[in-house]
Amino acid sequence: MTRELIILGSTGSIGVQALEIVEANPTLFSVVAITSAGTHPQLVIEQAKKFGVKVVGVTKNADVIRAALPGVQVLDGASASIEIAAISCDVVLNAITGSIGLAPTLAALKASNRVALANKESLVAGGDLVISCAREDQLLPVDSEHSAIWQALIGEKKSEISKLILTASGGPFRDRADLSTVTLQEALAHPTWTMGPVVTINSASLMNKGLEIIEAHYLFGIAYSQIDAVIHPQSVVHSMVEFVDGSTIAQGSPPNMKGPISLALNFPHRVAGATKPIDWGISHTWNFSPIDTARFPAISLARTCGEIGGALPAIFNAANEVAVQGFIDGQISFTDIIKIVSQSVDQLRASAATTLRDLGDVSAAEEDARHTATEFLKKVAR
Ligand code: MG
Repeated sequence: MTRELIILGSTGSIGVQALEIVEANPTLFSVVAITSAGTHPQLVIEQAKKFGVKVVGVTKNADVIRAALPGVQVLDGASASIEIAAISCDVVLNAITGSIGLAPTLAALKASNRVALANKESLVAGGDLVISCAREDQLLPVDSEHSAIWQALIGEKKSEISKLILTASGGPFRDRADLSTVTLQEALAHPTWTMGPVVTINSASLMNKGLEIIEAHYLFGIAYSQIDAVIHPQSVVHSMVEFVDGSTIAQGSPPNMKGPISLALNFPHRVAGATKPIDWGISHTWNFSPIDTARFPAISLARTCGEIGGALPAIFNAANEVAVQGFIDGQISFTDIIKIVSQSVDQLRASAATTLRDLGDVSAAEEDARHTATEFLKKVAR
């Protein structure tokens, strides 16, 4: 029996790599449904035909896709991903970018589907909601750092963890003193990972690591004071767990998302040949160094928002989504991103909901954050 998969965000970097894993392992996996924005209709059509999917969800270009795929059910509109996530299957891979991935995550969990989660914003924006719906082994991490921690924790006791240590490549500006003159092109040139534009810019500002600290808090139920991040430029050690006896377990493999994706899709089994292993026939140097939190304030801000909790992580993320788009559109400078996020968090901190009851609470907080961030953006826009 093959595992039936639903892939949300099939045309993005993670979605495309997941489909390559399926193609390489036809006895393990089949694809029942794919969703994406629909910005690349030809790619959607090609994927649907190649994998014989039964259902396609898009927000754009539905007519073109429908005409090209007779016999395939094509859902369109904002709720297509949510409806499709709830179709009964073995694993829903959520590879959507941004907090719009939260509702599909909740829908998949409520339908008793296992979720392979590449959408970290689900946990950042709605961590309490997601965790309260997820049974044991129902929510599996795809983010490489969290996959590493998850692997290091297999067979371990939570009470014996002293620290989770996330590794960060440090992005393209690890050693650059002045970040105010960074161009979009420079920010998009990640030294070790090839990813979508938003994640790449978030990696350059280390916002991505900030979001991942919050993600780790929810996934593993560990206090923020016990979650650290460290620069590791080679991106071979994907993260570590330190235990109470002073022992540290690290997970390593050359940087390639196919390892974490395939483990989450095939858990509890590994997929043979998912990635090339480390070549021990050549010499390697692995460096680790502390993060300069003055140059990369996103880390401390994420921690603060996470510790306060309630709606603040959702606000933090939504303000960042607005600011990153402003940077991509050429309206603001790279260092304005974190300024706008910080100003938005400061302004909304006192009025932010202290608990999130449902998706409506998350949406309301995000709407406030987007509005506030847009106002700050207008003030600095050139
Ligand atoms: Mg990551």
